[in-house]
This record gives sequence, C-alpha cells and structure tokens, in this order.
Amino acid sequence: MLTLTDVSVRYGFYEALSDISMHVEAGELVVLLGANGAGKSTIFRTISGLNKPAKGRIEWKGKSIGGVPASNLVKAGIGHCPEGRKLFPEMNVSENLKMGSYAVRRDKKAVAETLERVYTLFPILEEKQKASAGSLSGGQQQMLAIGRAMMARPELLLLDEPSIGLAPLIVEQVFDVIQEINRGGTTVLLAEQNANAALKIADRGYVIEDGKIVVEGDREELFANDDVRKAYIGA
Ligand code: ATP
Repeated sequence: MLTLTDVSVRYGFYEALSDISMHVEAGELVVLLGANGAGKSTIFRTISGLNKPAKGRIEWKGKSIGGVPASNLVKAGIGHCPEGRKLFPEMNVSENLKMGSYAVRRDKKAVAETLERVYTLFPILEEKQKASAGSLSGGQQQMLAIGRAMMARPELLLLDEPSIGLAPLIVEQVFDVIQEINRGGTTVLLAEQNANAALKIADRGYVIEDGKIVVEGDREELFANDDVRKAYIGA
C-alpha cells in the first residue's frame, strides 16, 4: 500500500534520513521505534508531503507521490496525527473534530456518520464536545488529535508518538483504541519510543537510529531482539 525506497531527506547539509526503505500493507499495524531525534517525525512528514525527499521514491497504492502537496495526500487517504497534537486550543472539541474533515470532505451526511464513529471510539469526546480543546487533560487531547485525523476517513493513519507525556494507564486506553481503529479496517503506521506498549498491538515494525533503519521484523522478532530489548524495553 505504501512503499518507501531508498528515501533520504536533508535539512540543509544535515542528512536526517539516509536510504530509508520500508513498506506498509493494507490492514497492517506497523510500528516505527526510535529514540528522540532518530528521524521518526521526519519520515512521517515526508510521507505526508510536508518534507521533500532529496532522493528515493515513495509510492502510495502503486503511484509515486514524491512532490505531491500534503493537502492532496489527505484527500488520497493518508491521515497524519502529528507529534504534539497541534490542536486548536480555543476551539471546542466538536469544532476541532470538524476541522479534520473541513478541507477534504463535502458530503455532510457522511461526515456526520464519521463524527458518530469517532464519538463511539472516544465517548469522552462526545461528553466534552462543547469544552475547549485547551481545557482537556493530556490523554483527552491525544484522543481528540486521533479523532480529528479520523475525520478525514484515512485509509492509512500516521500516528506520531501518541503516548508522549501520558500516564501508563492512559497510554493503555489510547493504544486499545488504536488497535480498535486498525481492526475496523484503517491501516496504521505508529511512531513510538514506548516499545512495550507499541509492540503489544503491532503486527510488525522497524527500528530507526540516526536516520537509518537498523532492525526490522515482526512483533515476536522485535520482542526477542537483544538490541531492541536493551534500547527500548529495558530488559
Ligand atoms: P522526536 O521524537 O524528538 O521528534 P524523531 O525521531 O521524530 O524525534 P525527527 O524530529 O525526525 O526525529 O528529527 C530527526 C533529526 O533531524 C534530528 O536530529 C533533528 O534535530 C533534525 N531536525 C528535525 N527537524 C529539523 C529542521 N526543521 N531543521 C533542521 N534539523 C531538523
């Protein structure tokens, strides 16, 4: 469904990604593990058209998408839930959710159905629909950010470090919903430092260090990998 082949990205002279090759198939939940600054967000920004690769090829459903503007990629089915959530804090919950579909979907009835689906996934968002996004707890804000990305009805959802800053119990709740979203048919690519939580729900994954993929494998292989355990699981 999504394939990156030898993708490199530079910020000025600094090469943030070097020859990244990876793929995500329809229906999968794939995790991208890496420490701070390893390049996870840069991969996501490049897939969603916000960074331009200096080299390499990115294909979405068989077609090259290098250089396609971000807004067109959202319409093509790639949803991006950025690190740090990037909500509109003064706007209320339902307004934030509607921003997720505003520029990409015209069919009001279908949008209303998606809103219902988001409220089913996150009942707390329905309860708090009139509350400002800025007044929500960290976990609720993360749920809102995921809900807003779902409003564009993506086929592939890119989730950039959804566990960041959340208490373990809340991380578990958020990851349960991510798994439910995936089981509902949305393909998920999840960037995480929290390998324990992420590998519990992932089918497969990649480890990125200093802009390079250093390990790849299915969930069991990554759990069993000594380097992964030492660096990310602490066992
Ligand atoms: P984090 O979780 O901290 O965001 P990450 O794995 O997502 O980490 P990136 O944000 O992709 O990492 O950053 C990869 C590298 O590129 C880092 O060394 C970072 O300092 C650098 N970098 C990121 N954005 C820019 C930018 N706009 N200009 C220059 N360097 C950047």
